[in-house]
Amino acid sequence: MISENKSYLNCVHCGKCLPVCPSYNIGYNEFLSPRGRVRIVLTDYADGIPLRAGKVRESMSACLLCGRCEQVCPNDVNIVELVANEKIKLYEFAKKSFSSDKLALNILKNKREILLRTALKIANIPFLKKLSGRNSPMPEGKSFIGSRDHIFNADTAVMLSPSGNHPALRAPLLERRGVNDGKNIFKVGYFSGCVFNGVYPQISIDTVASLTKNGVEVFVPKMQGCCGLPFISSGDLKSFKELAVNNALSFKGKKLDYIVTSCASCSYSINKLYPKYFNENDENLAEILDFSKKLTGIWSFFNELKKHGIEIKKGKLDNETEAVFHIPCHLSNMPDFKPASTYEKLIGEPGLIADNIAGLKLKPLKYNYCCGNGGMFNVRHYDLSKKITKRKFEEIKEAAPQEILTSCSGCMFSLKDQGGILKHSQAIPVSHLISIYARSLTVEK
Ligand code: SF4
Ligand code: SF4
Repeated sequence: MISENKSYLNCVHCGKCLPVCPSYNIGYNEFLSPRGRVRIVLTDYADGIPLRAGKVRESMSACLLCGRCEQVCPNDVNIVELVANEKIKLYEFAKKSFSSDKLALNILKNKREILLRTALKIANIPFLKKLSGRNSPMPEGKSFIGSRDHIFNADTAVMLSPSGNHPALRAPLLERRGVNDGKNIFKVGYFSGCVFNGVYPQISIDTVASLTKNGVEVFVPKMQGCCGLPFISSGDLKSFKELAVNNALSFKGKKLDYIVTSCASCSYSINKLYPKYFNENDENLAEILDFSKKLTGIWSFFNELKKHGIEIKKGKLDNETEAVFHIPCHLSNMPDFKPASTYEKLIGEPGLIADNIAGLKLKPLKYNYCCGNGGMFNVRHYDLSKKITKRKFEEIKEAAPQEILTSCSGCMFSLKDQGGILKHSQAIPVSHLISIYARSLTVEK
């Protein structure tokens, strides 16, 4: 059931949301603006002549669900929810037709990562790449999640170096036991999301390693899958809910203090969207709410450790590194995105992780533009997405960093796709913040 949302009635068409909307700023087309979309929804609910379905679809499908408009709207118009609900309605009509993003969604829904990885490898065959005119990410190593549940702690040999070996496949299933010199530690679950499992598995290794090095025990269930965000952003509510239930049940009954993710988009989907699309008629409501409440971003979790008096391990980089941190839209939207550290003006909560890396110097980004990914937006509208990424690189080039850091799987896709933006010889490496932290912990002090 789609929740009733009448916040479109609050829109006064002031246009405050226009400058921040990435899809509007591509060509200043009102159809692709937040208030244009609100206008469409308004017309949809009025008893007048209906708008052409094709135009409505075009407008809704080009929304990245980034939520930037909601941050500036003075009248609390819930644009993301309005657009998502329209997408769900449109999906019902277009269910049977074929499209490339439906193919991508079917691959994502399948829990055998081999499909996703094979599809990406095929998409990277030079001839097909040229034919499609798009760059797809290449899987960087074997999948992180193994064929059984695992528990990692300080005693487990989680390798920090980017060796290409993935301990989850080899590490023994440990019985829970007292670890870390008897210190009272947290027990957390790790939710990887499909990208940090199948495409960038080193980020999962780095997250788990950073947690265990700080005395935290980590449970990784094999059953978890995609968070569902690509599905809701395509209007496929049924699949979104199925994935949500699967994820919630995979962590059920494990007596975890928190469930940690390193992906801002997964966190947005689970924290914000799961509770919106489940109600008392859903069999697994309690499990969904419990999972959603327990899930937290690695950036907030480190703050949680600090609040509990646990000193966060300090790392040191081999070489001084000047970097920028791209704040993912889905991170800057979170209610817990509060300034908390030396870098507070720059990046908010993740600044605490940055504070503990000696040798890392963060440089500011002028506007922190959207990266252009928007989950399935990048798949559906690669050309538009690339235009938004190009604009992002204008501010990155101005800051001239040695490295780009971020904390979202979608942003990593787009920021690594520098073809047509930077010359090959000028390519800037892109890393997850947790990876550079994990790297800093391995350096002998
Ligand atoms: S900022 Fe809010 S009220 Fe103003 S046009 Fe945009 S959606 Fe409407
Ligand atoms: S969610 Fe993002 S892309 Fe969609 S209307 Fe709002 S600002 Fe624009």
